[in-house]
Amino acid sequence: MITAANGKAVLAVDLRPGLCTCGCGSPAARRFNQGHDQRLKGFLRRAHEAGEPVEVLIGKTRTRFPVAEAVAFLDTPDVSWSKWLGVDR
Ligand SMILES: [Zn+2]
Repeated sequence: MITAANGKAVLAVDLRPGLCTCGCGSPAARRFNQGHDQRLKGFLRRAHEAGEPVEVLIGKTRTRFPVAEAVAFLDTPDVSWSKWLGVDR
């Protein structure tokens, strides 16, 4: 994750192909580097509880979303981040 100088704007979800989805910016053969999904979960949980938005990077566009919406980008048919966060509908 990347925290901006103001401590608020953070890149939490990086959907660019070939990079770790946690937003650390490192190359990843799979969706996450080892342990980074857990790191992201801890971060998203804290942001959610604090009511802070997080940034999702899609292509070259950074967009801020409430955590409850950002996790939808992480959902796969096998793994529901929305359910993990408790915001699945
Ligand atoms: Zn990572």
